[in-house]
Amino acid sequence: MLFFNLRLLKSFKARLLLSFFSFIPVILIWLCTYLFINAQQRNLKVFSTGLGSIRIQYLESTGYLQKFMLSGYHEPAFYQTGKQKDIDKFLELQNSIINNLTRLKSKAQQNHLDMNMPLDSLIHISRQTLHLGRSLKDVYFKKGFEDEGLEGKMRQYAHWIERSKAIPASEILQLRRHEKDYMLRGKPEYEQLFFREIDSLMMRSSPDESYQALKNYRDLFSVFVKYTKELGVYYKAGISPQIQHQISQFDRQYINTDNIATNETHLLQGHFNTILVIVSVAVVLLVMFLSLTLSKYLTRDILELNNRMEAFINSDFRDIQSSDSGKGSASHINEIEKLYRDFNLLKTTLKTYINNLNRHTEQLQIQSIKLQDLNEELQVQSEELQAQSEELQLLNQDLHGQKEQEESAREEAEKANQAKSIFLATMSHEIRTPLNGVLGMTSLLHDTKLNAEQAEYVDTIRISGESLLNVINDVLDFSKIESGNLELDPHDFNARRCIKEVIDMFEGRAAEAGLNLIYEVDQAVPEQIAADSLRLKQVLINLLGNAIKFTSKGDVYLGVKLASINPDGTLVLSFEVRDSGIGIPADRLSRLFKAFSQVDSSTTRKYGGTGLGLAICERLVHLMEGTITATSKAGKGSSFIFTMKTEVRPTDILPNTDLAKQGQANAGLLAEDFALKNPLNILVAEDNMINQKLIMRILTKLGYEPVLAVNGLEVLTLLSSHDIDVILMDIQMPEMDGLEATQAIRNSSMKQPVIIAMTANAMQEDKDECLRLGMNDYLSKPIHIESLLTGLSKAAEISMAV
Ligand code: ADP
Repeated sequence: MLFFNLRLLKSFKARLLLSFFSFIPVILIWLCTYLFINAQQRNLKVFSTGLGSIRIQYLESTGYLQKFMLSGYHEPAFYQTGKQKDIDKFLELQNSIINNLTRLKSKAQQNHLDMNMPLDSLIHISRQTLHLGRSLKDVYFKKGFEDEGLEGKMRQYAHWIERSKAIPASEILQLRRHEKDYMLRGKPEYEQLFFREIDSLMMRSSPDESYQALKNYRDLFSVFVKYTKELGVYYKAGISPQIQHQISQFDRQYINTDNIATNETHLLQGHFNTILVIVSVAVVLLVMFLSLTLSKYLTRDILELNNRMEAFINSDFRDIQSSDSGKGSASHINEIEKLYRDFNLLKTTLKTYINNLNRHTEQLQIQSIKLQDLNEELQVQSEELQAQSEELQLLNQDLHGQKEQEESAREEAEKANQAKSIFLATMSHEIRTPLNGVLGMTSLLHDTKLNAEQAEYVDTIRISGESLLNVINDVLDFSKIESGNLELDPHDFNARRCIKEVIDMFEGRAAEAGLNLIYEVDQAVPEQIAADSLRLKQVLINLLGNAIKFTSKGDVYLGVKLASINPDGTLVLSFEVRDSGIGIPADRLSRLFKAFSQVDSSTTRKYGGTGLGLAICERLVHLMEGTITATSKAGKGSSFIFTMKTEVRPTDILPNTDLAKQGQANAGLLAEDFALKNPLNILVAEDNMINQKLIMRILTKLGYEPVLAVNGLEVLTLLSSHDIDVILMDIQMPEMDGLEATQAIRNSSMKQPVIIAMTANAMQEDKDECLRLGMNDYLSKPIHIESLLTGLSKAAEISMAV
C-alpha cells in the first residue's frame, strides 16, 4: 500500500492501470497450473495408448506363430514354400514388444506411475516366449531334409540301405512309410510301428555297414521323436503347450498390468483435478480479495468527490475553500482538483443563469397573464364561430337538398325533352309516310286530263299537303334546335346566286299577289362566302314568306349589306326583309320571336301558320352568330333585320354545286323520255302499299320498268336474279330494314348498285347514317319529284361510267 501512496500514483488513470496489472500474475499462476496438468494428462493418455498397442502387437505375433505351427512342422517341404517367414515375423514382433515394454517402463516412471513390477513381469514373459520361439525355429531347422536337417539325413540313410540291397526294398519302403506317417500325423502308434520295424530289420541284418546305417537311421528318428515330444508338436495340435502356457501367462499379466495402469492413471488424474480445483478456488479468492481492496483504493477519490459535491450543494452557491487546498497546491493537480475548479466555474455560470432565469420567469408570468386574457377572448370568438359554423352547416345541408332536387328536376326535364324528341321524330315519320302518298298521288292526278274544277281541287289538295309538310318541318326543326341537336353545315357557296334562288322561289307568288318583289345586294358583299347556305335560305324563305303572306299591296324588299369586318378577317353580313303589309302592333313586337306566338291567335284569324317560323329564324340566326330584330308600324309595314357571320372565299372557286331548286309544283316533270335519256334497271324497296303504288307509278311514267321488293331480304334475293343499277331504298321495313340490306350489299362481292335512301326519317342524323353505311344519295319523304329526277340522272351517270 505504501507503493500506492506514492505521489506519482495520485492520478486516477495510473491507479487504474496498476490495479489492472495486479490481476495479471494471478491469472498467470492459474494458467501455468492448468497447462502443466493438461500436459500430464496428455502423457497419461499416451501411456495407456502405448500399452494397448503392445497388446495388439502381441496378439498379432501369436497369430503368426499359430500359422507357422499349424502348417509348417508336418509339411516336409515347408522351407521351400517359404512358411518359415511366419516364425521370423513372430520373433521380430516379440523383439519389438520387449523394446516397447522397456520404453513404456521409462515413460511410466516419468509419469510417476508405479508400474515397474507388472511391466518387468511382462518383459520377462516376453523374453521367455522369444526364447521358446527361437528353440522352435531351431527344431524346425533341424527337422528339415532339403537343407540336410534330420529329415534329410534320415532320407540319405534310407536311400543308402535301399541302394546296398542288403534289405529288400519293400521293407525299407514300409519303414519310411511309418516315418512319414509319424511325421505327418504325430501319433504314438506310428512311432511304435517304426521302432518295431527297424528293430526287427536290425536284428536280421549282420553287423555290417547296413546295420550301422539302420542304427543311424534309428538314432535320427529318436532325436526327431524327442523334439516332437519336447515341443509337443502334434498334427493339428496347434502351438506347443509351453508356448501356449507363455501366451496365456502374458495375457493374464497384461490384463493385470492394464488394470494397474488404469487405476494408477485414474488416481493421478484425480490428483490433478483436485490440484486444479484448489488452485482455481485460491485464484478466485485472490481475485475477490484484490477486487475488494482495489475498489476501495479506486473509489477513494469518488468518495472525496462525493464529500465535495455535498459541500458544494450545501454551500447554496457561496464561495467555499477546497478542504485540502494546502495539499493540492503542490506541484501536481489530480482530476479531483480539476473537477473542483470546474465545479466553481459551473457555480458561477449557474448563478448568472439562475438570475437570468428569475428575470425570464417574471417576464413569462406577465406574458402568461396576457395570454390568458387573450385565450378567454379567443374562446368567446371560437364559440361564436362554432355557432356560425353550425348555422352554415344547416344552410349547406339545405342547399345540398335543393341541389339534389334541382338535379333530379334537370334529369326529369332531360328525360322529358328526350321523350319529346323521340315523339316528334316518330310523329314526323308517321305523318310523312301518308303525306308522301297524298302529295305524290296529287302530282300524278295533276298529270291526268282534268277539267277546270277538278284541277282546282287537285291544286287545293297539293297546297294543303305542302302546308301540312311545312308545319311538320317547322315543328321538327324547332324541336331539333330546342334539344340542341341542330348543327350548321358550313360550306363555300356563291352568296348572290343563293339570294337569287330564294327570290326566284317567291317571284311567282309575289306576282300572283300583285306585289313588287325587289332585291338588292350591296357591291361590298363578296361573291363567294363560307356558311350554311341551306339554313340561310331557310331564314330568308321564312321572312319573305311572312312578308308576302302579310302584305296585300305594295312592295316586298330584300336587301343584303356588308355590316362589318371583324379583326380576325371574318365578315358580318346584314339582311333586311321589308314589306308594306299589315304591320305588327308595338305591344306584340316583344313576343314575336317566342315559339307558337302569333299576332292574331284568335280562332277566326285570317292567316294560317304555326307561330314557329320566327322562333326558328331567331335560333338559326343565333347559330350563325348573328342577331335578329323586328321593327314595325301597324298598318304601314314591317322590317326584319338579321346579321350573320361568314368568311370570304376566293371567287375563282368552283360554282356552288347545290342543285336543289325550290318551288319544298311537280307537275309537268314526268316526261316519258326520261328513262331513254337515263337508262336504268331500278329496284324499289318499299313496304307501304300506297307509297309502293306511288313510286311505281312515277317511275313507270318516266318510262322505267321497276322491280318491287317489300323488305330487305327480298332486295337481296332480287339482286341475285336481276341486273339492277339503282335501288330506291325505304329504311323502315319489316324483317330486314333498308340499313341492314345496304350493309349486306356493300359487304358482298356482288355488282354494287347505286343505293338511294327514300325515307320518311327526315332528321339530319338519319341522312348521315344512310350515307355512312354506304348509300349514295338520300331523298326524304314526301318525295320531291325534281330531287328524285336529279338522283336518278346522277345514278345513270354513275352506272354508265361503270
Ligand atoms: P307563322 O307561321 O304564324 O307565320 P311566324 O313565327 O313566322 O309564324 O310568325 C309569327 C307571327 O308574327 C305571325 O303569325 C304574324 O302574326 C306575325 N308576323 C310575322 N311576320 C309578319 C309580317 N311581315 N307582317 C306582319 N306580321 C307578321
